[in-house]
Amino acid sequence: MISGVRLVVLGKQGAGKGTQCVRLSHHYVVPHVSTGDMLRSEVKSRSPLGQRAHSLMEQGELIPDEMVMEMVGARLSERDTTGRGFVLDGCPRTTVQAESLDAIVQPFGLDIVINLQVPTNLVMKRLASRRVCVDCGANYSTAAPPLVNWTCDVCGGEVVQRDDDTEEVIERRLNLYEEETAPLLDWYKARDLLAEINGTGSPDAVTRRVVGAIDTLRRKMKGDGA
Ligand SMILES: [Zn+2]
Repeated sequence: MISGVRLVVLGKQGAGKGTQCVRLSHHYVVPHVSTGDMLRSEVKSRSPLGQRAHSLMEQGELIPDEMVMEMVGARLSERDTTGRGFVLDGCPRTTVQAESLDAIVQPFGLDIVINLQVPTNLVMKRLASRRVCVDCGANYSTAAPPLVNWTCDVCGGEVVQRDDDTEEVIERRLNLYEEETAPLLDWYKARDLLAEINGTGSPDAVTRRVVGAIDTLRRKMKGDGA
C-alpha cells in the first residue's frame, strides 16, 4: 500500500480545496479532516459550540482559534490519523493556529503544506454558482445541477445556495482570508514546508501536480537520508 501522508492544504474558498482534499485522501488512504465539515455537523446538532459557530458564520466572521484547535486536536489524536496521517482542510488559518498545530502533530510533524493558487476573479465566479445539499453536503453548481429539480442525486436532500455564499459575504471572506493567511504562508515558507501549486485546470491535472510535488519531496528526503 502507498505510504500515508501528513498534509495540510491551503487555498482561498472556491480554489477547489475541498475537491482536492477528497481526492488526496483517497490517493494516500488517510482521513480527510475538514474543519468546515466538523463545524457544520456541530451546527446541525445544535451543540453549544455549534450555536456559537453558527452566529459567527452568519456574520461572515471566522471561528476563533481556540475553538478550531480544540476540534482539530481531538480529531488528530484519534488512532487512524496518528497511524497513517491525514489531509487537513480549513486549518491552520493563522500563525497562532499553525503553532498550535505544530504542537499537536509532534513528534512526526507535517510532511508538506500545499497552497492552491487560483485567481480571485475565477474564485468569485465559482463561489457564486456553488450549490450544496443541506443533508449530505454534496456539491453542485448552477452549471452542474442535480439531475432532478434541485434534489440531491446522492441522498434526495434539498440542494440550495449556502447562507454564506452571497456575493458580499464571499468578498468579505476572501479579503479576510488574504489578510490573515499572508503571514501564514511566510511562516511555512520559512520552515521549508510550503509548496505553491497552480490550482487552475481540471481537478485531475491539479491532483497530479500535488502528488508530483509530494513525490519530489519524498525523493529528496530519501536522498538526504542516504
Ligand atoms: Zn445529499
